[in-house]
Amino acid sequence: MPVSGEIKAPPAILGKLAKLGLARRGDLVLHLPLRYEDETAVTPIADAPPGAPVQVEAEVLDVAVQFRPRRQLVARVADASGELTLRFLNFYGSQTKQLEGARDTGRKLRIFGEIRHGFLGAEMVHPRYRAVAEEEALPQSLTPVYPTTAGVSQNALRKLIGRALAEAEAQAELGELLDAPWLAGHALPEFAAAVRLLHAPPPGVPEAALQLRAHPAWRRIKFDEVLAQQLSLRRAYNARRQKGAPRLAPAGRLAQQVLAALPFGLTGAQRRVVAEIAADLAQPYPMQRLLQGDVGSGKTIVAALAACQAIEAGYQAAFMAPTEILAEQHYLKLSAWLRPLGVEVAWLSGSLKAAAKRAMQQQAASTAQLIVGTHALIQESVDFARLGLSIVDEQHRFGVAQRLELRKKGERAASLPHQLMMSATPIPRTLAMSYYADLDVSVLDELPPGRTPIRTKLVSDARRDEVIAGVRGAVAQGRQAYWVCPLIEESEKLQLQTALDTYQTLAEELDDLRIGLVHGRLKADEKAATMAAFAAGEIDVLVATTVIEVGVDVPNASLMVIEHAERFGLSQLHQLRGRVGRGAHDSVCVLLYQQPLSETARARLKIIYENTDGFEIARQDLRLRGPGEFVGSRQSGVPLLRYADLELDTDLVELAREMAERLLRDDPARAERHLKRWFGSREELLKA
Ligand code: ADP
Ligand code: MG
Repeated sequence: MPVSGEIKAPPAILGKLAKLGLARRGDLVLHLPLRYEDETAVTPIADAPPGAPVQVEAEVLDVAVQFRPRRQLVARVADASGELTLRFLNFYGSQTKQLEGARDTGRKLRIFGEIRHGFLGAEMVHPRYRAVAEEEALPQSLTPVYPTTAGVSQNALRKLIGRALAEAEAQAELGELLDAPWLAGHALPEFAAAVRLLHAPPPGVPEAALQLRAHPAWRRIKFDEVLAQQLSLRRAYNARRQKGAPRLAPAGRLAQQVLAALPFGLTGAQRRVVAEIAADLAQPYPMQRLLQGDVGSGKTIVAALAACQAIEAGYQAAFMAPTEILAEQHYLKLSAWLRPLGVEVAWLSGSLKAAAKRAMQQQAASTAQLIVGTHALIQESVDFARLGLSIVDEQHRFGVAQRLELRKKGERAASLPHQLMMSATPIPRTLAMSYYADLDVSVLDELPPGRTPIRTKLVSDARRDEVIAGVRGAVAQGRQAYWVCPLIEESEKLQLQTALDTYQTLAEELDDLRIGLVHGRLKADEKAATMAAFAAGEIDVLVATTVIEVGVDVPNASLMVIEHAERFGLSQLHQLRGRVGRGAHDSVCVLLYQQPLSETARARLKIIYENTDGFEIARQDLRLRGPGEFVGSRQSGVPLLRYADLELDTDLVELAREMAERLLRDDPARAERHLKRWFGSREELLKA
């Protein structure tokens, strides 16, 4: 049942359709309306409810182009019940002619829009209208309104879609892929019936259920969409599982020794996750696990224990972090834990001098047991001797391609290294279940004990002086502070300038304190030196760009000031805030904002102010921004859901997940047909 029919349209139109993601007939079939308009009835002007879309039928009384307060086309129309003014602020000359023609011939217009009652009586601004023949029948069904682009009118799109549906039907492309009893059991209609209904709802279909996408036909489409996503991701998961991996016997002595030397015991959550990972590593196929844990939940030690298991089994572990600062910090920490136990730890970063780098590469290719570094780890020239486990910290900061590279690094014949990915951007459960269906997920849902909660303050920029005084106060008590510079996403150059300016100003305002500066443009060793000085307490206030966003751990820092907090993403703010509250001291995070705040900015800051739980923040962020931003660099690999709403359709995600497992196991050919229907040629892209 191929769904590869081409769309028949002029090349110029084809190009525009392609922009909408419409390349084949099947894509048009699945290009579903954004909303519907009800043109099945005509309402007398006098009865039209204000503020709701209605259709009226009227004659044109007069037409005029006015010039005040600005150039506009104004037509007065009337039916038996009353008069109405049509107002067009943008219009073509042809429109004026057309309306004048209707006036002169007495031809009626069907006009669709919302009536407002203004100073001059009933009025519609920019209504849709067309001239109709005497007694022209009204449409029988709701009129679909499609997502479109300039140059493709709704009418043209409707025709193309109507034709695509008819052709697909004739070619038997809309055949059912799911079992009738199962569908009936879940109150879902057949696929063909669902698309037909959504493109042309017959009279009597409840309009609200269509508009709100709650109608069973919508649920069927959303189910199918999520199913396609699940199939694609689970298939990739299964394919990787077919590969072999070194069996790493559960860690014994080495891990025990590390634990014995720690000044703390593991939390219950850490113990659970350590066990999950240990079990995975002992399997003869590669682990593909995502470890999620809020900022400060203690992921590093979990990763270190996993590394112990690989090392003890005679393999190497690689630990990759997204920034030089973070990688170095991990290197120091892991070295402190493992070197005393005789483990050979190597360091690899882009900033090493050529000779040092060569030496380290040689070490990676021979005796090193743990190799820590930045993405320098995945460069071609690096060749691991026997990589058994690769760990990616803050995995969302790496692109799909980079993570794939690391996986490939240790590939030997049919064997892959185990992979542990870690993320401190908590992913809401529904999102994890859908977009991350190609991974097993472990969650650290408990913070280590003894943390003092961070107090968050929202402070207007006008009170900056008080904040400066607060910084001085904290330092007087022996604490340290971060001062995060405003984010300027559009321009790296401006970002740098802002950082320099902020540093300059603060150095003047706090001239009795020791101020440091880190930003993305510093050389790696300069950055490292500054961070080391801050960690050692030789710097009181660290002015920083978001390079400190991830992972940095300086327990004595108890105050965080974030300038122009309204410009940051919620997860980013949560991450930044998590840099404090790491020691036993009372910690404060000051979010400085610039007045006036927009409505959404206010809503976002309120979320951060009211919540300390990263998962809750992520959930609200997801609701505010949708999954696009969230999934970040995964975007290139995973199709975004167009119809399903993760918040509202959780039940469908769960159903689709079960169905995907079942189809892949029992009927892969049917799974394949479903994927073709939804992704067509694009499926190739998803195999990453
Ligand atoms: P994250 O999950 O953000 O990467 P880290 O691994 O950096 O967190 O841990 C944050 C801090 O908590 C570190 O100083 C770490 O040594 C400490 N820590 C980790 N686990 C525990 C624990 N069970 N009890 C007390 N402190 C812990
Ligand atoms: Mg971390």
